[in-house]
Amino acid sequence: MILFKHISDLQKHLQKLKAENKTIGFVPTMGALHQGHLSLIKQAQQKCDIVVCSIFVNPTQFNNSEDFNKYPSTIDKDIYLLETNRCDILFLPSEKEIYPDGEELKQPYDLGFIETILEGEFRPGHFQGVCQVVDRLLNIIHPDFICMGQKDFQQIMVVQKMIELKHHPVKMIIGETLREASGLASSSRNIRLSDNEKEKAAAIYKSLLYIKENITKTSFGEIKQHASEILMNSGFRKIDYIEICDAKTLTPLIKYNSSTQIIVLIAAYMGDIRLIDNMLMN
Ligand code: AMP
Repeated sequence: MILFKHISDLQKHLQKLKAENKTIGFVPTMGALHQGHLSLIKQAQQKCDIVVCSIFVNPTQFNNSEDFNKYPSTIDKDIYLLETNRCDILFLPSEKEIYPDGEELKQPYDLGFIETILEGEFRPGHFQGVCQVVDRLLNIIHPDFICMGQKDFQQIMVVQKMIELKHHPVKMIIGETLREASGLASSSRNIRLSDNEKEKAAAIYKSLLYIKENITKTSFGEIKQHASEILMNSGFRKIDYIEICDAKTLTPLIKYNSSTQIIVLIAAYMGDIRLIDNMLMN
């Protein structure tokens, strides 16, 4: 694996590969890598000749500075994991390299309804920051494919919208959510949970399964009420949302309709750690 810290060096190398007609797959991350990230690298490897992974903890997508300051960093282990998983290139830029003119976003992205709900509602500005960094990284790397996880379902929809708005010639590969044996979705933030909290946090998965089993049988109001009891009785401190939505538009739904693809999304706090997860219902 080759590690690049500077855009100019990375671009010189990528130009050579592109001249050889190699296809480039790109996996953007914020590091503290886990099996979920590695599964995206594997999917990109299946589709592309060369896989570029970036590690950059993007300050502009954090609406809470404490969350940013406490974001886990395990860079030596990350490099080891990428090497042993045969990733070709790691791009590890500084903040100055990504935002040479400062972090301020000159022109907000017109994301519409999608950034007003769920994560958009609870983390104002978050998706503008996500678009800002992914747009910048796409302009640096110009990959053929970008590989992102279903774990951040709304983020995928937002990035797809940004790709359309900015006419990036890149295709999206969506990776399934990797889970621990308990069902807890792998996440960099899990590092900050104690073993006991991790065990309790698997209740998010259990409540998603409960909803999936009962979605055709019970009213959405009752189902959400029961799912929130599962979470609170398992030790979650606070629930931001449990929402049943149309998977194409993320519009909240009030009753079951077999012709609509349905997704359930949850965000809740285990102690100070905010966890999100989702599951397609049909
Ligand atoms: P992050 O480092 O959290 O910004 O995530 C980088 C990429 O990994 C994003 O596309 C995430 O959706 C994806 N990802 C995070 N957790 C998982 C998981 N458990 N399974 C699959 N992909 C994931």
